[in-house]
Amino acid sequence: MNPAVPRQRADIVAKRAPRRVSVLGATGSVGASTIDLLRRDPGRYAVEALTAKTNATALAKLARELGAKFAAVADEAAYAELKDALAGSGIESGAGPSALVEAAARPADWVMAAISGSAGLLPTLAAIERGVTVALANKECLVCAGGLFMRRAASVGATVLPVDSEHNALFQALGAGRREEVVRMVLTASGGPFRTWAAQAIQAATPEQAMRHPNWSMGPKITIDSATLMNKGLELIEAHHLFGLPSSALDVLIHPQSVIHGLVEFRDRSVVAQLGAPDMRIPIAHCLGWPERVAGPADRLDLARIGKLEFEEPDLERFPALALARAALERGGGAPTVLNAANEIAVEAFIGGRLGFTGIAALVEKTMEAAEPRGLFAEPANVDDALVIDRTVRSLAAELMPQIAAKAI
Ligand code: NAD
Ligand code: MG
Repeated sequence: MNPAVPRQRADIVAKRAPRRVSVLGATGSVGASTIDLLRRDPGRYAVEALTAKTNATALAKLARELGAKFAAVADEAAYAELKDALAGSGIESGAGPSALVEAAARPADWVMAAISGSAGLLPTLAAIERGVTVALANKECLVCAGGLFMRRAASVGATVLPVDSEHNALFQALGAGRREEVVRMVLTASGGPFRTWAAQAIQAATPEQAMRHPNWSMGPKITIDSATLMNKGLELIEAHHLFGLPSSALDVLIHPQSVIHGLVEFRDRSVVAQLGAPDMRIPIAHCLGWPERVAGPADRLDLARIGKLEFEEPDLERFPALALARAALERGGGAPTVLNAANEIAVEAFIGGRLGFTGIAALVEKTMEAAEPRGLFAEPANVDDALVIDRTVRSLAAELMPQIAAKAI
């Protein structure tokens, strides 16, 4: 178990409010849920920094509303718009990758890391380096360089709180015992929009169909990943790094109602689960209040109305991405970094209409096969190394794309 993930809440003394908070990826889905919670209790939080990729107008509006001290856009072309929109407010601004790192390194004591994709690695690491509490939504940090992130967090005394709903559920359920008493963790998955579809129909699935997630409202990349089940594969890797369990002790269970988010089995065969409506404001509120609990706005769970909860095994034939991710977890080293980069390129191409749905897993598999003999499965020594693997694999996947697209579109 990594010491950066805290033990039982009773052992922890709460810091006094107001808390200084920063939100990286403030204009996204997790960012919006976080800000919704901040707005509901303005006296408790002081906002330090907010970031976005390109949407300077939306970012400036949030920064003004929340009284942030600093706002940064990743896209340098959006800087003039950001400066204009902040004129007269006294809010400092910046643009480009270094400004994102600056935003993350500003003096907040709670940072939401909710940038999507490997673009979140350096800013999230900058927040961790300050030794503060990092609410970690950006699972790509753990997939691409999990060993490095967790070791660094432990050595600087940072606290990593899992935001991803399944991991947050596991973290909550872990409170029922000691870490060394855990024998298995189970991550649930809704199964996505194609859970009941025949293989042939899945092959012809369009981005619009894949974007219709049955239970959760999320950003586009993770929604497509939920349709392929790659998201659950990435989450196995994420769970491995957060909780230190091997692949053999991590299971995936399809649960279409998304009411139970994660289950921890202890050695006495007790299974402890966390339940709740499928609303990211529940895990985010848990991280925001930690080690206390704050009032949350999500719907209350009404099991009588839901009536029944169903479970099934994942079908690895129709959803091969899950098996690819597990293989990458078991292979270790740079394999998960390669998997993630290939998947990011494949999902982008699928959303852009350049690759069929089943082409996503096919491209990831082909890229993994091509990457190993090129030495790309070697363990990255640092985050820059992981980013080099990421960039190299992106070009490799782009090169392999036409061949796969021709077969799978
Ligand atoms: P999103 O696409 O809705 O938002 C992403 C945010 O990051 C936006 O603010 C965007 O402007 C910013 N961003 C995107 N690319 C960037 C780049 N290259 N440089 C700088 N900023 C960039 O994504 P989301 O659904 O909110 O997901 C964010 C992260 O949280 C992802 O890692 C995702 O896997 C994880 N997560 C999301 C959910 C969910 O319910 N949405 C659940 C669990 C985990
Ligand atoms: Mg999740």
